[in-house]
Amino acid sequence: MTQLVPLFIGGEFCQSNSDEWLEVTNPANNAVIAELPCATNDEMERAIQNAHDTFLTWKEVAVSERARLMLRYQHLLKEHHDDLAELLSKETGKTTVDAKGDVWRGIEVVEQATNIASNMMGETVENVATDIDSYSLIQPLGVCCGITPFNFPAMIPLWMFPLAIAAGNTFVLKPSEQVPLTAMRLAELFEQAGAPKGVLQVVHGGKPQVDYLLAHPTIKAVSFVGSVPVAQYIYQTGTSHNKRVQAFAGAKNHMVIMPDANKNQVLSNLVGASVGAAGQRCMAISVAVFVGSSKEWIGELAGEMAKVTPGAWNDDNAGYGPLISKQAKARVVALIDEGKAQGAKCELDGSQCEVDGMPDGNWLGPTLFSGVTTDMSIYQQEIFGPVLVCLEVETLEEAIALINKNPYGNGTSIFTANGAAARKYQHEIQVGQVGINVPIPVPLPFFSFTGWRGSFYGDLHAYGKQAVRFYTETKTVTARWFDGDIPTGPNMTIQLR
Ligand code: NAD
Repeated sequence: MTQLVPLFIGGEFCQSNSDEWLEVTNPANNAVIAELPCATNDEMERAIQNAHDTFLTWKEVAVSERARLMLRYQHLLKEHHDDLAELLSKETGKTTVDAKGDVWRGIEVVEQATNIASNMMGETVENVATDIDSYSLIQPLGVCCGITPFNFPAMIPLWMFPLAIAAGNTFVLKPSEQVPLTAMRLAELFEQAGAPKGVLQVVHGGKPQVDYLLAHPTIKAVSFVGSVPVAQYIYQTGTSHNKRVQAFAGAKNHMVIMPDANKNQVLSNLVGASVGAAGQRCMAISVAVFVGSSKEWIGELAGEMAKVTPGAWNDDNAGYGPLISKQAKARVVALIDEGKAQGAKCELDGSQCEVDGMPDGNWLGPTLFSGVTTDMSIYQQEIFGPVLVCLEVETLEEAIALINKNPYGNGTSIFTANGAAARKYQHEIQVGQVGINVPIPVPLPFFSFTGWRGSFYGDLHAYGKQAVRFYTETKTVTARWFDGDIPTGPNMTIQLR
């Protein structure tokens, strides 16, 4: 019998009463590894209500005690780093090394959450008027929720609930229905770290369960990471219910290759950044913009990409794993076919890829297109597969104009030996995360994850100080303590005196 994924409500792992269940599969062979319930309305209500009741006591727990919970949690996550990575590999197909990176980047956010007290300090000004002081208090919002995608089953839930909970909120997590097992393990370890019952709830399902969260008056803030149309829907629906929303969406990340860049560095970084994790990263480089004579390297790039082969998570020679589902693979193959039909030159075609002994996996080989133009669907759409498209321009100015015209703004990078070119690029490019000779510039958690334009809907970003602001409210107090009974007479203005 396949494993039935439980819900986590009120600190208990409980079996759902749902009559609607979804299959969780191993993308390397499409075997069913678990069944996942779509939580009933009653279960959704219980989770939210319990989170609300718990908030009333959790918000009163001392900030240093909340920080200590995060210290214990990061310690346990480190202890279980490798087995978490193994579980994560099974449901995503990620290679061991990549799965470990997914877990590690999440642990780094938990480390940041241990520093919660410093990030919740308000401001004080003494004597804003005679004997009057003003100061601000940073207070939690209440019940927050998170809706996460399939491609980082550890890192992205850990972007959300540790900081929200450390700030004094309670949290309802709805992980991706395609990869719920890692999220459940994260919840188990959180409980083992001593998290009080009810501070974290985990519910499962798809759109109906998300809609329940978005419409519920008790939910104060919504963190979302996923595809563009769903991010737009979440932002519009959540804000129309007067909630605070941060919605991180899809991307088309460009790397600019200047002719003065180190060729070997360009090639090795470009291969890893484009086909690593089968291209299923929101910060993957999916477009290479060759400036001037650097286009002469495209042939060698195809040769380097061809050396990378996909394979099973525990195959040390595998460069990356399968795509998450048959549907995801079919979509990428259709886009590759469209690229060919629209006139791009397919320098390397991975659409017929097979992996020995694993005939049922969702495999795709590295794929490279040159001669791509901005009207082609392989340029316009996020492919989310191991596919790199190459464009050619004559100058840096043209490259900047091209990228600024693209609707997305998650990440970008420039490879160059020229500091002035790099500075011009970082200043003029309208993308929220810029790498200079760094292909995937994901900021560490003392900064924030700052995607722009069509890749982000909201104001305050994930992790770092911005996330603490997102999960809290600022209260400003203006205080006077009378020193004796000095008659002042009525103050008829709004001026402080
Ligand atoms: P997805 O949008 O299909 O699903 C994300 C979440 O939304 C899941 O929990 C899913 O259950 C829920 N969902 C799906 N359809 C919904 C609907 N109609 N209404 C309400 N909820 C719905 O995304 P995915 O395929 O799981 O993840 C891949 C996408 O995520 C890519 O586009 C990738 O670029 C993006 N992503 C972005 C970032 C970022 O930081 N910008 C990070 C990781 C992934």
